[in-house]
Amino acid sequence: MSTPVSPADKSMEEIVSLCKRRGFVYPASEIYGGINGFWDYGPLGTALKNNIRDWWWHQMVTCPPIGPDGDPVSIVGLDSSIIQNPKTWEASGHLAGFSDPMQKCGGCGHFVRADHLWEILTSQSEWFDSLVQQFEPATGSIDTPKLIDWAKRKGKKLAPNLALVRNPQVTLSWLATRVEGQPTAPPDVQEVVQHLATEQLNQTGLQDPCPRCGGALGEPQPFKLMFESHAGLTQDDASKVYLRPETAQGIFLNYKNVLDTMRVKLPFGIAQIGKSFRNEVTPRNFIFRSREFEQMEMEWFCPPEDALKWYDFWKHERMKWWLSLGVDPSNLIFRDHADDELAHYSKACVDVEYLYPFTAPNYGELEGVAHRGDFDLTQHTTHSKTKLDYFDQELQVRLQKEGVDKDEIKKRSRYTPNVIEPASGLTRAVLVLLCEAFTPTPDRKGSDYVMQFKPKFAPVKAGIFPVVNKDGMPEIAQKLFRQLREKMPVETDAKQSIGKRYARMDEIGTPYCIAVDGDSVTNQTATIRDRDTTEQVTVGLDQVEAYLSGKLAD
Ligand SMILES: [Zn+2]
Repeated sequence: MSTPVSPADKSMEEIVSLCKRRGFVYPASEIYGGINGFWDYGPLGTALKNNIRDWWWHQMVTCPPIGPDGDPVSIVGLDSSIIQNPKTWEASGHLAGFSDPMQKCGGCGHFVRADHLWEILTSQSEWFDSLVQQFEPATGSIDTPKLIDWAKRKGKKLAPNLALVRNPQVTLSWLATRVEGQPTAPPDVQEVVQHLATEQLNQTGLQDPCPRCGGALGEPQPFKLMFESHAGLTQDDASKVYLRPETAQGIFLNYKNVLDTMRVKLPFGIAQIGKSFRNEVTPRNFIFRSREFEQMEMEWFCPPEDALKWYDFWKHERMKWWLSLGVDPSNLIFRDHADDELAHYSKACVDVEYLYPFTAPNYGELEGVAHRGDFDLTQHTTHSKTKLDYFDQELQVRLQKEGVDKDEIKKRSRYTPNVIEPASGLTRAVLVLLCEAFTPTPDRKGSDYVMQFKPKFAPVKAGIFPVVNKDGMPEIAQKLFRQLREKMPVETDAKQSIGKRYARMDEIGTPYCIAVDGDSVTNQTATIRDRDTTEQVTVGLDQVEAYLSGKLAD
């Protein structure tokens, strides 16, 4: 086994290129120049995605874990509609929160949330950080030559569209007028920077600069973060509908249906996998942030007094699941949300984060496990006027036995369940496995890269190759192929040199290559090569299937 390479040392460019070349992920609508924020999963990417999806479903719905009290937990599946009654999104808060005022940069086209601009400038903008070191705003003293010098050197590189860089003389003259005009009230940092971002003060007034390029930002405008459409023939406000921005709400809408029809009792979960859509402002980092994506979400409904216990349980179960994909433990961390990061209704939230090549040395979001309290069911109760509370008969019997007062029993045995939500992105899971598996192999003859997927998730399990395309070998390979294809995805290929065929299998992550050679004809054996070690074992032709099944079961 080659030494694992940290994702921090992998090149995202090489990963994206391999994904395209080998049929994992293509840019959507590529022949029309693509479309920003959308990706198509090729034949191998689809297989990889389905393998991960099926494993999540197996571990969450078909065979969920044993709970903290030693009892198997109960989770049922759901497949709800992408389009729901628009009132759903009023209740969930998405309609209000999903149209934040945004400012667009005239220089580079970047969108910034207007209410976050100065926070972003001070914490994330490289040019801003460099520029503010050039002046002393507290005293109002502006060192003009120093600023011009900055504009000519660093500014040119970091903020090419900043007014100060494009036209320093005019920009600084406006600033000088301001400073001299009110000597007792020097401008603060924000005002100085706005001046340095403004070329034509008399025409535009003070302008806000783009955190990326320094270009002038336009007026704040509401920017829809949900995709809108219309249901029916007329296109008016009454027919307006939204593509769901998360699968979770479909679960809350069906909580009562499931409770009434499925003989479940608290605690239990409802799980769903499906597409969600966000008109994200800045799609970036390959499939990490895209406008159309696939989620795997589970809502765990439980009595309020047990919520923290279940939160802790699911937090650790979800980490175990990510490790079961074959992800190196050192590439995963928990990040607990600070109190000021929590949504107002949320009692606790933790992210599972991964060391992506583009976030390294930092980790980036992978899955969120949230303690949502009774927020969702209460919201839908209010907006739909449908009672979504729960009568806990077991609790009632227990309290009766304990001799608790009648009124007290009545009060405590009917409640709105709390919700623990492990929510992860299936498409993000694909990205993690692509990053994790991608391994440059400079020492290996023929292959530049090996995709070291855990065999369970590999799109193709074995390649079957006659070493030469004659002497009875193709016939044996063909027979083996026909036998194995009924059990698992396998490929056979008689063309090209054996080295080239191995190289392709390495790059698509096929764990085993079976060579049919002279010995296969005389001794009825085949040579099986391990993708990661390149070690070879000889196995009887009638034992190949059993050998592979054993290896793939893990
Ligand atoms: Zn810009």
